[in-house]
Amino acid sequence: MINVFQPTLGDEELDAVRQVFAGNWLGHGPRTRTFEAEFAGHLGVDPQRMVFVNSGTTGLFLATELLGLGPGDDVVLPSISFVGAGNAVSVTGARPRFCDVDPRTLNPSAGDVARALTPRTKAVLVLHYGGYPGEIAGIAALCRERGVALIEDAACAVASSADGTGCGAFGDIAMWSFDAMKILVTGDGGMLYVRDPELADRARRLAYHGLEWHSGLAASARVPHRWWELNVQDFGRREIGNDVTAAIGSVQLRRLPGFVERRREIARAYDRLLAGADGIRLPPPLPDGHVTSHYFYWVQLDAGIRDQVAADLKERGVYTTFRYAPLHKVPIYRGDAELPGTEEAADTTLLLPLHQGLDDADVRTVADELRKAVEYRRDRGRT
Ligand SMILES: *Cc1c(COP(=O)(O)O)cnc(C)c1O
Repeated sequence: MINVFQPTLGDEELDAVRQVFAGNWLGHGPRTRTFEAEFAGHLGVDPQRMVFVNSGTTGLFLATELLGLGPGDDVVLPSISFVGAGNAVSVTGARPRFCDVDPRTLNPSAGDVARALTPRTKAVLVLHYGGYPGEIAGIAALCRERGVALIEDAACAVASSADGTGCGAFGDIAMWSFDAMKILVTGDGGMLYVRDPELADRARRLAYHGLEWHSGLAASARVPHRWWELNVQDFGRREIGNDVTAAIGSVQLRRLPGFVERRREIARAYDRLLAGADGIRLPPPLPDGHVTSHYFYWVQLDAGIRDQVAADLKERGVYTTFRYAPLHKVPIYRGDAELPGTEEAADTTLLLPLHQGLDDADVRTVADELRKAVEYRRDRGRT
């Protein structure tokens, strides 16, 4: 089976973990702080505001809590969002207000976001679909103008940027995921970036029992000679990352440019191999000045055959999928919006295998099988 996503890990990561073992300190420590600083450098922001947490989802939940969202507040997010984003909004008592997306890019335009704003809107939460930055600069400007906070779910966009600004640096709070199916992986893990320094400190407290931190360490003591006493400033949880996963993350971050370059080559190859195929629409071109991480490569097929083609490909050893199933169709979110762009995208889009472990023969196999499956299902549809 050719996987749709797959990480790349090897001796360098193993050596880094071996060093952690040799030091006999596995918890949150120097390697965590190093990884935070390196990731902050990668984005070009202050390391004090970067918090390594145990998942991207944790970052989403911290984000909605830091913004003090609650009953009576609205949060605008695309219906095509990660399920954890919907949960992180709803758990606060705030109401998700789903906006539409462009059916080709699966990102919302600034206009889509603007149309969903209400007087009760406290925050906007957008992702960068498949790594495409989308109209993030326009959305950030809109949020500033309306006095609304902007959360960037940058899980797809670990190496994406728009006009020189890294995705994640446009809004007030951003998070990335390093789970096992992302480009940069640590097993479980996520990074939270909080622009406001005081809120960043609060994020650190909330992620570790509500304890006050000093110089990167959770300082429990209220008085120095009784270090076991607790200085609790918030009702926090335990959501921090550790030195084992951070050590893996540092190696993966160094390798990231190579991963993205190989993914770029594969995307170009799909573009070439699928060009002109009847019934297969390729991803739209990236606007000038935008850089993608190439997390997804997606094609769009006639709605009537998409599911069949996916099933045929699976039978032929090619695993495909769709991300992210629209949340306004999920009853618990009480969505009643009419979202034609979302519906179209959700009925037609298929993600092809894209990861740095694919060789050229795999890529040709995927393209050939896709062409054949689409041709077959379109012919059957006509008879
Ligand atoms: C993977 C992903 C997440 C969640 O990250 P976890 O680390 O698995 O919790 C959030 N948002 C998007 C867009 C994702 O793709």
